[in-house]
Amino acid sequence: MSSAASTLALQGGRPVYEGKWPSWPNPAPDTVALLQDVALSGRWAISGAYTGRDTYEKRLSEAFSRFAEAPFVVPTANGTSALTIALEAAGVGFGAEVLVPGLTWVACASAAAALGARPVLVDIDPSTLAMSIEAAEASITSQTQAILLVHPYCMVADVEAFQDLARRHGVILIEDCSQAHGAAWRGKPVGTFGAAGAFSLQQTKLLTCGEGGLAITSEPVIYDKMQQLRADGRRYCANAVLGQLELEEVGSVQGRNFCLSEFQAAVALSQLGLVEEQNRLREANAVKVQNGLRGLRGVSIPQADPRVTRRSFYQFLIKFDRKVLGSYDAEKLVAAIAAETGVFCELIDTPLNANRLYNPLLSVRTPLDTTIRQALDPKRFELPNARLAQTSHVAFGHWALLGDDCHCEAIVAAVRKILDNFDVFLIDQTTGARRL
Ligand SMILES: *Cc1c(COP(=O)(O)O)cnc(C)c1O
Repeated sequence: MSSAASTLALQGGRPVYEGKWPSWPNPAPDTVALLQDVALSGRWAISGAYTGRDTYEKRLSEAFSRFAEAPFVVPTANGTSALTIALEAAGVGFGAEVLVPGLTWVACASAAAALGARPVLVDIDPSTLAMSIEAAEASITSQTQAILLVHPYCMVADVEAFQDLARRHGVILIEDCSQAHGAAWRGKPVGTFGAAGAFSLQQTKLLTCGEGGLAITSEPVIYDKMQQLRADGRRYCANAVLGQLELEEVGSVQGRNFCLSEFQAAVALSQLGLVEEQNRLREANAVKVQNGLRGLRGVSIPQADPRVTRRSFYQFLIKFDRKVLGSYDAEKLVAAIAAETGVFCELIDTPLNANRLYNPLLSVRTPLDTTIRQALDPKRFELPNARLAQTSHVAFGHWALLGDDCHCEAIVAAVRKILDNFDVFLIDQTTGARRL
């Protein structure tokens, strides 16, 4: 490529790629048929009357139980409610400290705060982008009740180290796998290393029905609580009677309604059949892009721990190393890659100590007590590694990896062109001014 001479698309030049990208989400072959089946079935919710056959919600639970190798699955209205019931069933409640990674989606912290718990924001490990085990250990106090471990972007946290940490300190481990459907550590799917795991089925996730969630566990007591927590204190009864309600009232916990509708359960069930093959395709295409970027100075793909036996790519990340490349304008860099490729890309999450979407002090549930408010204030946490990571990675939506060679080559060509024109992005650190 004679890219050294070519003008960036951002500055009016010709983009490296002008073709189409894979779309997302897409129906599976049976999605529409299943939706029609629900529409005509007379059962649109698990809280409706028994029609003589299993709900799609139950069928989804059974299928996901096999997929995630977890004995018990409770579908929920969204990932946030899956996290909520997982935390609550594990005993996280008012005043409990919960360790939450400082670099992730806001729901991880806001779901814990909504339970009255105190999210303790923990800095990340730059090599995994997940919670740092050292920083986590340093954050544990006598009030710590749980660790919410997130497997972020395309990475799997060191689950063995966190299992050990949780055991040594007598705290509960919960995994948020909303970005890691199908990822595995030493052959064992994520979500099965702690007391419970939570998954989101939101539109951009690797398994989706638009909005939805799944909570998994291997512990019968937690399963029973999670079932009730998501259905106003009710759970499936043992002997359903035709025409009568299938949920029985138990009320051994204070539940709420977080149920997934039958329409969504049917869509999720149909989509589940696609995930493994799509995960394999994304993994193979990620390797192709990585090979294309080999040898380029200052650019790399985050590497998985050798114990990760199956990677899942919720977002495909490319790291532009500031130590090698100098200080650059990350937002402009993302805009330039989007302009070259024509595919969706963005910076990764804004750290939770500086994220405008996370401020529990604004909640009417937060007491006026000064000590509590100080404990909840996100700004009291320092997250230098999270901050550096946020401005050093470009994230592509996972569907960018569901195409063929021409899509992988487009990403590689865009990165090469940006490196050839890198002066455009550099910031003069003494003045903070852009160089060009
Ligand atoms: C998407 C996501 C959630 C929240 O899921 P929703 O379905 O949007 O409620 C929670 N945690 C992580 C890590 C996520 O990516």
